[in-house]
Amino acid sequence: METKTLSKAAPIIELPKPLEQLSEGEVERKACIGRLMTYTLNNLTSQFVEKDFQWLLPVALSQSTDPLWPDPGASIEKRIEVDIYGKTVRTTASMIIHKLIASSLAYPKLFILSPNIRIEKAERAKTGKHIYEFTQLDFEARNASTKGVMTLVEEVICNLLTSMKQDMKEELSLLCRCDTLELPKRPFKVYDRQELEVDYGADWEEGIAQETSDPVWVTNIPREFYDFEDFTTGKWDNYDLFMPQYGEVLSGAKREWEYEKILKKIERDNVDKYNYALVLKLAKEEKLKPTAGGGIGMERLVGWISGVEHVAETQPFPRAGNSAR
Ligand code: ASP
Ligand code: MG
Repeated sequence: METKTLSKAAPIIELPKPLEQLSEGEVERKACIGRLMTYTLNNLTSQFVEKDFQWLLPVALSQSTDPLWPDPGASIEKRIEVDIYGKTVRTTASMIIHKLIASSLAYPKLFILSPNIRIEKAERAKTGKHIYEFTQLDFEARNASTKGVMTLVEEVICNLLTSMKQDMKEELSLLCRCDTLELPKRPFKVYDRQELEVDYGADWEEGIAQETSDPVWVTNIPREFYDFEDFTTGKWDNYDLFMPQYGEVLSGAKREWEYEKILKKIERDNVDKYNYALVLKLAKEEKLKPTAGGGIGMERLVGWISGVEHVAETQPFPRAGNSAR
């Protein structure tokens, strides 16, 4: 079967200018995006708290951060490791393992505004979608299902957009998003990654983002050991959320909780077992519970809402390229 060709090759996006180089008009635009970020953080955290999710504070250094492997979407150039008190720890790539442990043991429904550091290959800065420091609203719920998480995410995003369109008209119109930012219809469509590969080939992420005019879910994406994989069908019970004309803003999954499966996948992936000793021990003692969750990239979500060219425009101090302030 022939694959569809994308309408244009991925454009190279300029890195955003630092604060002190912005013109007056550019400062106004930056401040507008900043107000949409404040609105979004306030709105989403309130919604999660109202739904009885507990708000945990983040960890910055740990032994068991996200391996980001073997996710074909990740392109990590370097991992930051440091020795403290005689132990090697890494800067947080995501708090996925902490979420599984916290949700299983003490906080059944939780979320964290979690700063993540992912030093991706330098050329990725030019996609306009990658920054080396970002913050996700990372959430997890014990005994939740994929359907349950999808419904929750659709509800909180539609609530956010509904109230934002009422309360932030001035900002949205300055960013020319008043008319183009539409309230999506629920439930969002769900695609299987395999179908999209047939249609678009390896570049299915770009393909579906360009083609759709509504947010869509994509399921069954092979990646890290902690996402649930059905060994009989070979299908992965995980999901990414893609925004129209933009791309991925959330990834999540139902999780593995059984010792034998986790061990097998860690070994299969060649991931260092030592770093995941605690989660393995808890699984072996049957203290790890089935959970599901996801993480909403805050810069990407607000970037999509604001219609920015480069996601780093949503950051006061852009974390892309080599011009760190
Ligand atoms: N937050 C994601 C999850 O919940 C993991 C990631 O950051 O990639 O699955
Ligand atoms: Mg991931």
